[in-house]
Amino acid sequence: TNASTITKNLDYNIWLIFTKVSTKSPLTVKFENLLYSLLNVSSVLLNFNIIVDEKSKSIALLKLTEIMVKANKSMNYKFYDVQDCARKITDIYDAMMPFFSSKPGTYYSDALFYISLGLYRVAPIKQKRAILLDCDLYFKKDVALLFEEFQWFKSTAFFGLAPELTPVYKHILHMYKRKHKTTFGEFYHQRPLSPSSPNHPKGFQGYNSGVVLVDFEKQRNSTEFSKIITKESVINMTEKYKFRGHLGDQDFYTLLGYEYPELIQTLNCGFNRQLCTWWRDHGYREIFDYYFKCDHPIVVLHGNCNTRIPMD
Ligand code: UDP
Ligand code: MN
Repeated sequence: TNASTITKNLDYNIWLIFTKVSTKSPLTVKFENLLYSLLNVSSVLLNFNIIVDEKSKSIALLKLTEIMVKANKSMNYKFYDVQDCARKITDIYDAMMPFFSSKPGTYYSDALFYISLGLYRVAPIKQKRAILLDCDLYFKKDVALLFEEFQWFKSTAFFGLAPELTPVYKHILHMYKRKHKTTFGEFYHQRPLSPSSPNHPKGFQGYNSGVVLVDFEKQRNSTEFSKIITKESVINMTEKYKFRGHLGDQDFYTLLGYEYPELIQTLNCGFNRQLCTWWRDHGYREIFDYYFKCDHPIVVLHGNCNTRIPMD
């Protein structure tokens, strides 16, 4: 095999979590809009892997069938049971939940906020890499563009993530930043603050996990990765930064960005253009727009915190 056949054989695996819905749930509408946008503008055959409970599965099946007719395109899909998935990441959940969950709900539903970190254990071994997407996304351009980002991964990167576009991590680092001069938590459109911050010298807003590129093969072959997701490792990092979050896996990715930047490939904001403006009205009006600004061509819109996505 040569390089070009490898590229062509790349299968386009997309993972979605679709649980706790009814026919009339807002999430069902988001799911339909996302799937339709994906299919409608995709130049490649997509393999969907959808994590569901019994009821969500029957709704998803119905919608998938409708969408294939409406878009006049086909796709592959496979379902995974939410409880099986949660069981496979018990250790990860136990390590992270005390620091990154706001109000742990039922075990199975809360554990899913950490699934991206253990998806390599759930995915069929033939999947070498995949993209995990939130359901509150809308594709403006071909998802193949997102898969192309894998080719720019540095050799050490397990994950690809776009920046968080609010000051939430400036807020969370409040205590730490009183004692330490650092660009962490600062927006990246400004001048370097400190030559003593070699990682992310221009400011680092943290990561958003609505779009996560994952290299399963590297994770499976790594001895380092299993150490990083242990309770001990999480305790060390959260203690160092006095870090108490509430956003699940993305809090952990942001900490990795501080301590192990080589493990993450930073995508540009156009690959996850978040729309939530909650922090603008909660103490950060003066600086919010510096974080929110995104000058890259928009591939994916993210209607996070239930923000309506403009669909022109
Ligand atoms: N999700 C789900 N059922 C729920 C809530 C969330 O399946 O009841 C999944 C869904 O894939 C959703 C993701 O969890 O996109 C993350 O939640 P959301 O996008 O609402 O969080 P936000 O981006 O606003 O932080
Ligand atoms: Mn979301």
